[in-house]
Amino acid sequence: MMKEKFLIVGGGLSGVAIGYHLIQKGKDVTLLDDQNNHSSIVAAGMINPLVFRRMTKSWRVDDFIPYCEQFYSSIEKQADRPLFHPITIRRFFSSQQEKDFWTTKQILPEFSSYMEMLTDKDLNFNEEAVLNDFGSGRVKKSFWIDTKLFLEVVKEIINTNGNVISELFDHSEYDAASTTYKGEHFSCVIFCEGYRSRDNPLFSYLPVQSTKGELMEIISPDLETTESYNRKCFVLPTGQHHFKVGATYKWNNTDPIPEDNAADDLTEKLKYLTTKDFKVTRLLGGIRPTTLDRRPIIGEHPKAKGNYIFNGLGTKGYMIAPLLAKEFCDHLTDKIPLNNEIDIHRFDQLLSLTS
Ligand SMILES: Cc1cc2nc3c(=O)[nH]c(=O)nc-3n(C[C@H](O)[C@H](O)[C@H](O)COP(=O)(O)OP(=O)(O)OC[C@H]3O[C@@H](n4cnc5c(N)ncnc54)[C@H](O)[C@@H]3O)c2cc1C
Repeated sequence: MMKEKFLIVGGGLSGVAIGYHLIQKGKDVTLLDDQNNHSSIVAAGMINPLVFRRMTKSWRVDDFIPYCEQFYSSIEKQADRPLFHPITIRRFFSSQQEKDFWTTKQILPEFSSYMEMLTDKDLNFNEEAVLNDFGSGRVKKSFWIDTKLFLEVVKEIINTNGNVISELFDHSEYDAASTTYKGEHFSCVIFCEGYRSRDNPLFSYLPVQSTKGELMEIISPDLETTESYNRKCFVLPTGQHHFKVGATYKWNNTDPIPEDNAADDLTEKLKYLTTKDFKVTRLLGGIRPTTLDRRPIIGEHPKAKGNYIFNGLGTKGYMIAPLLAKEFCDHLTDKIPLNNEIDIHRFDQLLSLTS
């Protein structure tokens, strides 16, 4: 029997996570990526189970974190190099209210796997940043991914078992009705184009927004932390006195080049976390695909059958992509229904307005 053929357009986090799961299912996979990959490579790759503003748990975190541990460890084994790093995040409380939220929640069973109980040391731990008056709390079950290595390794796995082609997908050469690209027929075409889905004639009706982010890499021989500090921005130790500091949020902006004031902006925020000297070694910019309801947009086009989208991963892509990609692939191959919150059909009304 002929194998079903799957074409994935876009080789950022979304595309490679889907490609990996389809390969696991023994499918015939071709992944097209034009290497114009801003968001997934630029990302710091942090996985933080909490949302600090109101000290709540992230959406579906109890499902996502265990799956991340399994997924990234398995990729790391195949990479034979470390790419999945457990880390503690130390959140410096920005107000008495935030500290009170932590104090109340740390004793609740549903939070105990993510929050260390506050100690006197935490409450008096200010690093040297005099701007911190309320102490800090330590987040458990946090990680960071070496994003560049991760993307390289998964693309390699897909290429060994399928095909990875460095090429732009030209929409003018695509017949969506028959899912045929340049004369080749596919059973399914899955679009994972990040913020560039706005240029996709099939899916441009969807409200995928472009949220620019900037991040700086620094070196600081005096800053000795092995924890990631967080308040107003984050500082992530990546080894040998190198750190990532980020990130900015600039709405409706599709220019990935960092702006002139990005380093000043992040340096100003970094004052809340350390007073140690540092040197900026690199500034990076990328465009996150975000949505107003903060949920990804996943599923089959309501009219053009066989055409799928997997997009809108937002600010926590590295935490949510692995399990969502698995659920999506189970939906493709075994017709298991998608979670309503992420289903593309919540936007069907927009399609009728534009057609
Ligand atoms: C500064 C910054 C920091 C971040 N930090 C974190 C973090 O710490 N933790 C976290 O979880 N998330 C973080 N994110 C968010 C995360 O990067 C995104 O959620 C995720 O990378 C989105 O992945 P994606 O594959 O959907 O999109 P993208 O990464 O944009 O990938 C889309 C891919 O599709 C390709 N493509 C598009 N159109 C075509 C076409 N027509 N033909 C061929 N190829 C095409 C592009 O070249 C690209 O490779 C950060 C983002 C930024 C910008």
